[in-house]
Amino acid sequence: MTQLIDGKAISAQIKEELKERVATMKERGVEVTLAVIQVGNDPASSVYVGNKKKACAYIGIHSLAYELAEETSEEELLKLIDELNEKKDVNGILVQLPLPKHINEEKILDRIHPLKDVDGFHPQNVGSLCIGRKGFVSCTPAGIIQLLKRSGISVEGKECVVIGRSNIVGKPMALLLLQENGTVTVAHSKTRNLKEVTRRADILVVAVGKPKMITAEYVKEGAVVIDVGIHRNEQNKLCGDVDFDDVAPKCSAITPVPGGVGPMTIAMLMNNCVESVALQK
Ligand code: NDP
Repeated sequence: MTQLIDGKAISAQIKEELKERVATMKERGVEVTLAVIQVGNDPASSVYVGNKKKACAYIGIHSLAYELAEETSEEELLKLIDELNEKKDVNGILVQLPLPKHINEEKILDRIHPLKDVDGFHPQNVGSLCIGRKGFVSCTPAGIIQLLKRSGISVEGKECVVIGRSNIVGKPMALLLLQENGTVTVAHSKTRNLKEVTRRADILVVAVGKPKMITAEYVKEGAVVIDVGIHRNEQNKLCGDVDFDDVAPKCSAITPVPGGVGPMTIAMLMNNCVESVALQK
């Protein structure tokens, strides 16, 4: 029987735990505050920002919303980040991506104080992850580690293959699996004989950004398959990078889309907000 890794249930469990921690912190007079900045009104970004605010409200995190006009200049945005960096009562700063084209994303993300960078995108946090120091970790890969742990799947000594090497998913994912003592291979668009590489995997993490690209022939019998992709198919239904119906019968465990990795990203963002209080001490 293939185990269905239930991201919806696991993320709900994490949110409950965080809610309790935040309530205890409040009793001690400690409030957690997240500043969320959105520039322009891209509809998808508005949905993501709305979901983050909702999660904050549920857990008891105070959220400050900065909804800035599309024409906001880079200088104005940097000034706002400087102000929020200085504020003692703001624990986390999140800038919703993508930003309008006239704003340099890298410059903006680099300006967020590393101790308030709850998305884990600042080079200092990425560096900390690389050398095993404390810091914020990118939410999606951190969520995948929680999915594995809370589903009783050990990484130690396993052959782990990550397809994709983006800065927000593939690379931090590989580092986290290494930290968990996996033997890690990172595949990308220049990888030769991809199927041969992926068929070695006991744990296969797919973050390739191509709908249903990974079919059963890429997967070893009994492997654990984690699907990071999110796409809408021709029928406007959500699907992942993995062809679920084809792959699931061959796996020991698999994440569905929706309801797998997706819900974990916000849960881990909330976790980073709560952790920020201790890191800032
Ligand atoms: P990117 O587009 O930044 O990266 C895709 C990676 O896949 C690249 O490293 C690329 O290689 C590699 N790749 C592309 N084509 C192939 C191929 N044919 N064979 C092997 N490797 C290939 O994507 P992201 O990492 O940002 O996201 C990946 C997926 O995850 C997307 O579907 C995205 O929507 C989803 N996502 C989901 C999240 C969630 O919360 N569930 C959060 C973030 C992303 P190269 O580097 O050589 O170009």
